[in-house]
Amino acid sequence: MDRRNRRSAPGLAVAAALLLSACHSGGRVVLPVAFEDPAPAATLRYPEDFVSHEATVRGVAAILSRQLGLPVPDHVTVYIYSSRAVFEQGLVSDGRLPAVRAAELSEFAIGVGKRRQLLLQDDGGRPATRDWLRLVAHELTHVAQIELAQGEGRAEQWLAEGMAEWAAFSVLERLGLDALGERRAAALEHVREQAALRDARLDLDTLGTPRGFTVRHQREGSLATYQLAFLMTDYLIRRHGFERLLEYYRGFAGGRGRREGFRLAFDQTLEEFEAEMLAHLGRVLR
Ligand SMILES: [Zn+2]
Repeated sequence: MDRRNRRSAPGLAVAAALLLSACHSGGRVVLPVAFEDPAPAATLRYPEDFVSHEATVRGVAAILSRQLGLPVPDHVTVYIYSSRAVFEQGLVSDGRLPAVRAAELSEFAIGVGKRRQLLLQDDGGRPATRDWLRLVAHELTHVAQIELAQGEGRAEQWLAEGMAEWAAFSVLERLGLDALGERRAAALEHVREQAALRDARLDLDTLGTPRGFTVRHQREGSLATYQLAFLMTDYLIRRHGFERLLEYYRGFAGGRGRREGFRLAFDQTLEEFEAEMLAHLGRVLR
């Protein structure tokens, strides 16, 4: 899933939402996208190669697969919903989520990646905007995680979200729209204020489950929680390489449990990693 941006002008947001629902009431677009064609040339360019929703999904999938080695299935179905309410309905009818979870998710998320499905809310934006590319890349990474693990929800939730953020920024960087180094610096700046860090604990046990991750970011704030997940995953990637995350996910297909999967992939227990990460953050945030 990917977080909803908090709007700074609520009055304006409400007005825009009313206008949109008047124009596209009940709007739901279903877009099957196949990846069986030859992969696009390595010279994908922004924005000319991202002019339609289909081209965007294909282009982002090509970068994720070529640059990061993420396995993209031979097809995905992309659902685009025109409002929060239609998105919530779609999470139930298309994504087959329980109604309670759909209501909770649609409060803060604008995208969900399921098995060979991207469920996205579009407030009328064009396919080639930076935020839309980031959203598509984030959710396509979740689709790839499900392919690797051959199932959903097996990995640490903070790692699933951090990896999706990292891969999305990496796609943007490849297209000249962002830089991972700047993201790292910005994330450190935001994480500085987190209550969990002031208490000198990360509580990876809670952050590890989908439900716990949701609770945590309701309490600590969405942006700060995703940025903490990004920083922890970035730390693992800088130490072990991105490929190690793929191995971590493949381990679940072989029947590994959550804690065992982490220990075997990263050569340390979750507790050891948590202590090390806290010490690292303590140093860089001093
Ligand atoms: Zn996500």
